[in-house]
Amino acid sequence: MTERSKAMANRMRALIRRAKPNCHICGKPINYELTWPDPMCFVVDHLVPLAKGGADNVANARAAHATCNSTKRARDYAPIIRRSGFLE
Ligand SMILES: [Zn+2]
Repeated sequence: MTERSKAMANRMRALIRRAKPNCHICGKPINYELTWPDPMCFVVDHLVPLAKGGADNVANARAAHATCNSTKRARDYAPIIRRSGFLE
């Protein structure tokens, strides 16, 4: 990750954090006091994954629990992993 994209990610986190939205995946409130690696801590999730051409900006970013985000990610990538035979 470049210094520039890291700075942008930090700014995006700060913007979302200030609004304190609920998790966009499970709809429950996020405790913004929790920090990584707590599974219920706040992470920035991209609506359209960056790997699929999603924009790295606030319009494509939503707040999520770390655990919800990792569950969603596993589901997104599972078909790709199966197709490639990666798990065989
Ligand atoms: Zn959640």
